[in-house]
Amino acid sequence: MSTNIELESVSKLASGKVRDLYEIDDKTLLFVTTDRISAYDVIMANGVPLKGATLTQLSAHWFKVLPERVPGLKTHFITLDPPAGLSDADKEKVRGRSMQVRKLKVFPIEVIVRGYITGSAWNEYKKDGTVHGLPMPAGLQQCSRFPQPIYTPSTKAELGQHDENISPEQAAKIVGDQYASRIEELALKVYKAAAEYAGERGIIIADTKFEFGLDEETDEIVLIDEVLTPDSSRFWPADEYEVGRDQDSFDKQFLRNWLTREGLKYKEGVAMPADIAESTSARYRDAFKRLTGKTLEEAVEALG
Ligand code: ATP
Ligand code: MG
Repeated sequence: MSTNIELESVSKLASGKVRDLYEIDDKTLLFVTTDRISAYDVIMANGVPLKGATLTQLSAHWFKVLPERVPGLKTHFITLDPPAGLSDADKEKVRGRSMQVRKLKVFPIEVIVRGYITGSAWNEYKKDGTVHGLPMPAGLQQCSRFPQPIYTPSTKAELGQHDENISPEQAAKIVGDQYASRIEELALKVYKAAAEYAGERGIIIADTKFEFGLDEETDEIVLIDEVLTPDSSRFWPADEYEVGRDQDSFDKQFLRNWLTREGLKYKEGVAMPADIAESTSARYRDAFKRLTGKTLEEAVEALG
């Protein structure tokens, strides 16, 4: 399990909660996903075995299938191959968990799309009858499907801060009117295509968070970051779905529930017990297998 990876042959540009970004050249990044896991915006002290490879291989799968289903969709994905200049030792450290991507200007919002009402959206609805300030139909129950998927952006908080739910109007002020509606439209199209794809494989994508970047040369909006992973999404097994209660899930809900139960929510430096880390790992890999039809080991093996 690797929560801290230091490469010697490329320079680190930035570190997020889960990923480390290295600069290959002006236009290219090496996007390395560690085994770190965050819940409620706090990073756990230990990692989840094989998580980095699972997220990288799953994102790569979506970067292949989504452009086939959403005409005109551009993504930042270049290749799963390591850059030529990487030392052999570094290649070994990032094996399975890295991809080369186009370096782009990031729109500073979290582009959340929700197909079902749960989490912070459910809490807001119970209190005010709205979701991210948007009026909602009466009578929704916990985990109800929305009549239509909705775009519910949030701010992109600095490390250590918490993201805040905002209305589409507030998001438009942040990204600019010329991009706001294009981002919303693209996010809804990608969500719908992905939800259909996952639905055929027994997984409900309750909600998900995208990030978009701008190709300043062409003025095109590009899908970046990780996509449609158990970290960025709530995946529910379709055959167990029942409205009116919490859903058992593939994703971090398991870890989140444990933190809540133990009263450790928002606490820094918490270490997960081995059984929580292991069962989280198994859930991530189960989602991978259902969505891609391959085991993680098969996907990594195929890299050569
Ligand atoms: P942040 O660091 O923004 O708070 P995070 O903790 O989720 O978010 P990670 O997911 O660990 O961060 O790291 C990924 C970082 O890389 C994010 O800041 C994301 O915005 C950025 N990023 C993703 N794709 C690109 C890209 N193509 N070009 C530049 N930056 C990117
Ligand atoms: Mg992230």
